[in-house]
Amino acid sequence: MEREFLRWLRGRLPGDPRLIVPPGDDAAVLRLGGSDVVVTVDLLTEGVDFLLAQHDPRKIGRKALAVNLSDLAAMAARPLAAFVAVALPRDGARELAESLLAGMQPLAEEFGLAIAGGDTNTWDGPLVLSVTALGEPGPGGSLRRNGARPGDVLMATGSFGGSILAHQFDFTPRVREALLLAERYPLGAGIDVSDGLAIDALHLAEESGCGVALDLARVPIAPDAERLAFEKPAGGTALDHALGDGEDFELLLAVAPEVARRMLDEQPLGATPLTEIGRFVDAPGLWQLRQGALTALAPRGWEHRASS
Ligand SMILES: [Mg+2]
Repeated sequence: MEREFLRWLRGRLPGDPRLIVPPGDDAAVLRLGGSDVVVTVDLLTEGVDFLLAQHDPRKIGRKALAVNLSDLAAMAARPLAAFVAVALPRDGARELAESLLAGMQPLAEEFGLAIAGGDTNTWDGPLVLSVTALGEPGPGGSLRRNGARPGDVLMATGSFGGSILAHQFDFTPRVREALLLAERYPLGAGIDVSDGLAIDALHLAEESGCGVALDLARVPIAPDAERLAFEKPAGGTALDHALGDGEDFELLLAVAPEVARRMLDEQPLGATPLTEIGRFVDAPGLWQLRQGALTALAPRGWEHRASS
């Protein structure tokens, strides 16, 4: 529903010269008094994104902020501030609000982000939590989704799949990695993986007006994806999990082949590997690259939230 709604929305909203990056990217970019401000918002709802009966509210608070930081990373932006809006179930509202904040604060400190304000309500409904984060463009300017070109290499940070076991709550947003890469290399386009590796690669290609071919043999598979595949074989292979699970919050980047070669040689992120996992191609859509030939690949992943 969301991609379709977003397409409809983009056709209805008038442009504004101050809006440098309009809806449809990981964040919007506004030009204010000569400087660019990167803005992103996310909404987490009990029963959809988490269950209070199962998940520590501090983890929920942390995640609400972390997903926004991940969107700032996808824009290669430096975090500045966040605003937190929360609708609290009446019962135990105060304790819950304190726990949510306790989960956010260490992450805000780690990334030099000010929690600058917000709003709280209590009601008879479930917990609903929305964070809006502001950032400033990093060294290479705002990294968009629309800059990939056929022939560019698709690069990925880290590994994929199995996030439901732990990673969806304890991931570290790739802010430092994005800023370091933007400083050292020309980056064509970027996105963070929230919906799933395959579908987010397709989003990057679609926004760039081209297609993308994944080299499935090179997709880095997370140990938790292997574990899920082993424990619940009916749920798919480890590769299925890597392609479709989502909430990996890794970065996908489009770079020119010579830039990819340098990145692969230098591995500038230390313990976090950078891997070449595919190529952008002229033919629109999602493909797999097998023995030099393209075959169609069905996108896997869930679309549960708008992008910015
Ligand atoms: Mg995103």
